[in-house]
Amino acid sequence: MARKMLLDGELSQRNQEEAHYDFDLFVIGAGSGGVRASRFSANYGAKVGICELPFHPISSEVVGGVGGTCVIRGCVPKKILVYGAAFGGEIEDARNYGWEVNEKLDFNWKKLLHKKTDEIIRLNGIYKRLLSNAGVKLFEGEGKIVGPNEVEVTQLDGTKLSYSAKHILIATGSRAHRPPIPGQELGITSDEALSLEDLPKRVVVLGGGYIAVEFASIWRGMGATVDLFFRKELPLRGFDDEMRAVVARNLEGRGINLHPQTNLTELIKTDNGIKVITDHGEELLADVVLFATGRLPNSKRLNLEAVGVELDNTGAVKVDEYSRTNIPSIWAVGDVTNRMNLTPVALMEGTCFAKTVFGGESSKPDYSYIPCAVFSIPPLSVVGVSEEQAIEQANGDVLVFTSTFNPMKNTISGLIKYLGHLCVGQMHLKLCRALLLH
Ligand code: NDP
Repeated sequence: MARKMLLDGELSQRNQEEAHYDFDLFVIGAGSGGVRASRFSANYGAKVGICELPFHPISSEVVGGVGGTCVIRGCVPKKILVYGAAFGGEIEDARNYGWEVNEKLDFNWKKLLHKKTDEIIRLNGIYKRLLSNAGVKLFEGEGKIVGPNEVEVTQLDGTKLSYSAKHILIATGSRAHRPPIPGQELGITSDEALSLEDLPKRVVVLGGGYIAVEFASIWRGMGATVDLFFRKELPLRGFDDEMRAVVARNLEGRGINLHPQTNLTELIKTDNGIKVITDHGEELLADVVLFATGRLPNSKRLNLEAVGVELDNTGAVKVDEYSRTNIPSIWAVGDVTNRMNLTPVALMEGTCFAKTVFGGESSKPDYSYIPCAVFSIPPLSVVGVSEEQAIEQANGDVLVFTSTFNPMKNTISGLIKYLGHLCVGQMHLKLCRALLLH
């Protein structure tokens, strides 16, 4: 009986403590991780608020939009452009399958751009509805942390709103990074690349990561001349070396000019376009220069120093395996933590956060065997370890199986000629298995 009274007392004290917060959870950033965490937390019965900057296809300190990078200026619009770019080769190939495609093929960039923008506006609306259907209160404005349980939202008109919350979740994602070279302001990042007014004829891409090879493929597929510069011998550092070589061959086969082990040193504006100067002293002219040189955690304007949230040297919010920072009431998920910067991973981290904090079930995200895909044309998809990682992990031998073949579709087309270039249609499969000897 005494124990029961004690428990009742404890519970009522906890209820009183919780009652004095405006929210059980306040989330800063309504991208993939933030929306998932807030919806799932609300489904567990939490009172949830979330803030996000107003919608715009190109992000800045003052605009963003519910849905975040993946939906508004990342995966979704990129995939739409990849699909658009792939049609050129398909239509040419259709001739080999008996289709009479007599007229000259014209590509209307503006039409695709409008369709893409319509689609992301639609998805932005769906994401807002997902939040309101879950009972999450959305605030439009920039969020800052002003105390371990206190957030401030600055609205577009400058009015500031203050709220207390038992838990605060940082889910502000990342921002494109530009290399500090003279004339860097003449280049663009993937944000602008997805919203260009006109389709460029001559493109220079710097970087060898996901974004670089995807945009090189998009623009080449739409008919532009593309020069891709990267620092390593092959693009896609971190992926299996053999597969990187296959991707490089495919990019080259589709007419992309590869410049391995080359960096850009300066951009200069001229009457005839942007003059691009490389560290080998080469010069070329471009209509558009894309910096695809990585993204940095978006943590600068959150006022984290004031509350003592620890960051690493890239600006990423440091978290434990449950996504909790060094301040017990403050948590972080997604790219702002720079763990594995992929949308499905942010979703997983958001789900685990909600389960742990409001679902009564401690859940750690599991980073093993996460599949990923690079939407170059043709694409590369990967799950598990590369040959290099298998060798590193194995105490013994590694079994490697590879297979190269021509998809049946290409038996009629052979090596397809389109846009004046060879289309590489070979497929390459690889399986690596570490033999762990004990
Ligand atoms: P990545 O980290 O994949 O690649 C960055 C590239 O930029 C590397 O090739 C790197 O070269 C190069 N680089 C970095 N700094 C410089 C510099 N100063 N000068 C020259 N080159 C430089 O970044 P991305 O920008 O391609 O993509 C950002 C994030 O977005 C990634 O984390 C990725 O996970 C995610 N993403 C995922 C996609 C998908 O799932 N399909 C699609 C697009 C993005 P080096 O290798 O020499 O260091």
